[in-house]
Amino acid sequence: MHEASIALSLIEVACDVLREHGASRASALTVRVGQWSSVVPEALIAAFPACAEGTPLEGATLTIERVPGVGDCPDHGPVELDVRRGLRCPLCDAPTSTLVQGDELELDSLEIA
Ligand SMILES: [Zn+2]
Repeated sequence: MHEASIALSLIEVACDVLREHGASRASALTVRVGQWSSVVPEALIAAFPACAEGTPLEGATLTIERVPGVGDCPDHGPVELDVRRGLRCPLCDAPTSTLVQGDELELDSLEIA
Protein backbone atom coordinates (compact mmCIF):
# COMPACT_ATOMS: atom_id res chain seq x y z
CA MET A 1 0.00 0.00 0.00
CA HIS A 2 2.90 2.27 0.86
CA GLU A 3 4.39 1.86 -2.60
CA ALA A 4 1.05 2.51 -4.28
CA SER A 5 0.79 5.92 -2.63
CA ILE A 6 4.39 6.63 -3.61
CA ALA A 7 3.62 5.64 -7.20
CA LEU A 8 0.63 7.98 -7.18
CA SER A 9 2.65 10.94 -5.94
CA LEU A 10 5.36 10.25 -8.54
CA ILE A 11 2.69 10.16 -11.24
CA GLU A 12 1.40 13.49 -9.96
CA VAL A 13 4.87 15.04 -10.22
CA ALA A 14 5.36 13.56 -13.70
CA CYS A 15 2.00 14.94 -14.85
CA ASP A 16 3.05 18.41 -13.70
CA VAL A 17 6.24 18.10 -15.78
CA LEU A 18 4.22 16.97 -18.80
CA ARG A 19 1.89 19.94 -18.43
CA GLU A 20 4.86 22.31 -18.20
CA HIS A 21 6.09 20.95 -21.52
CA GLY A 22 2.68 20.96 -23.12
CA ALA A 23 2.93 17.20 -23.58
CA SER A 24 0.04 14.83 -23.14
CA ARG A 25 1.75 11.49 -22.64
CA ALA A 26 4.98 9.96 -21.35
CA SER A 27 6.47 6.71 -22.59
CA ALA A 28 9.05 6.16 -19.85
CA LEU A 29 10.24 7.59 -16.57
CA THR A 30 13.24 7.10 -14.34
CA VAL A 31 13.02 7.49 -10.60
CA ARG A 32 15.96 7.78 -8.23
CA VAL A 33 15.48 5.76 -5.06
CA GLY A 34 17.99 5.96 -2.25
CA GLN A 35 19.18 2.69 -0.77
CA TRP A 36 18.33 4.13 2.64
CA SER A 37 14.85 5.23 1.79
CA SER A 38 12.06 2.92 2.93
CA VAL A 39 10.94 2.29 -0.64
CA VAL A 40 11.15 -1.22 -2.04
CA PRO A 41 11.91 -0.76 -5.77
CA GLU A 42 10.34 -4.07 -6.77
CA ALA A 43 7.12 -3.17 -4.97
CA LEU A 44 7.09 0.25 -6.58
CA ILE A 45 7.54 -1.25 -10.05
CA ALA A 46 4.78 -3.74 -9.29
CA ALA A 47 2.39 -1.04 -8.07
CA PHE A 48 3.06 1.42 -10.87
CA PRO A 49 1.05 0.05 -13.85
CA ALA A 50 -2.23 -0.08 -11.94
CA CYS A 51 -1.66 3.38 -10.47
CA ALA A 52 -0.81 4.82 -13.90
CA GLU A 53 -3.98 3.50 -15.47
CA GLY A 54 -6.07 6.33 -16.86
CA THR A 55 -3.26 8.88 -16.42
CA PRO A 56 -0.89 10.30 -19.05
CA LEU A 57 1.61 7.73 -17.78
CA GLU A 58 -0.47 4.70 -18.60
CA GLY A 59 1.76 2.10 -20.26
CA ALA A 60 4.95 4.03 -19.51
CA THR A 61 8.05 2.09 -18.51
CA LEU A 62 9.26 2.74 -15.00
CA THR A 63 13.00 2.43 -14.38
CA ILE A 64 14.47 2.72 -10.92
CA GLU A 65 17.94 4.00 -10.32
CA ARG A 66 19.29 3.05 -6.92
CA VAL A 67 21.31 5.67 -5.09
CA PRO A 68 23.84 4.33 -2.59
CA GLY A 69 23.94 5.79 0.92
CA VAL A 70 26.74 8.21 1.70
CA GLY A 71 27.47 9.29 5.26
CA ASP A 72 29.69 12.01 6.60
CA CYS A 73 32.55 10.65 8.76
CA PRO A 74 34.31 13.21 11.00
CA ASP A 75 37.69 11.76 9.90
CA HIS A 76 37.11 10.48 6.40
CA GLY A 77 34.52 12.89 5.05
CA PRO A 78 31.86 11.47 2.74
CA VAL A 79 31.97 7.65 2.75
CA GLU A 80 29.74 5.11 1.07
CA LEU A 81 27.73 3.24 3.66
CA ASP A 82 26.97 -0.43 3.87
CA VAL A 83 23.25 -0.89 4.52
CA ARG A 84 23.91 -4.00 6.60
CA ARG A 85 26.22 -2.14 8.98
CA GLY A 86 24.06 0.92 9.50
CA LEU A 87 25.12 4.52 9.85
CA ARG A 88 28.81 3.83 10.47
CA CYS A 89 31.95 4.71 8.56
CA PRO A 90 33.18 1.55 6.76
CA LEU A 91 36.79 2.65 7.32
CA CYS A 92 36.87 3.49 11.03
CA ASP A 93 33.42 2.46 12.31
CA ALA A 94 32.68 5.97 13.59
CA PRO A 95 28.97 6.82 13.65
CA THR A 96 27.98 8.95 10.67
CA SER A 97 24.86 10.64 11.88
CA THR A 98 24.32 12.65 8.71
CA LEU A 99 23.13 10.97 5.56
CA VAL A 100 24.61 12.97 2.67
CA GLN A 101 22.70 11.01 0.08
CA GLY A 102 20.74 7.80 -0.08
CA ASP A 103 17.29 8.74 1.17
CA GLU A 104 16.04 10.30 -2.03
CA LEU A 105 12.91 9.50 -3.90
CA GLU A 106 12.66 11.72 -6.91
CA LEU A 107 11.75 11.83 -10.54
CA ASP A 108 15.00 11.82 -12.50
CA SER A 109 13.85 11.87 -16.10
CA LEU A 110 10.72 11.66 -18.14
CA GLU A 111 10.49 10.54 -21.73
CA ILE A 112 7.75 12.36 -23.53
CA ALA A 113 5.85 10.25 -26.02
ZN1 LIG B 1 35.85 7.17 9.11
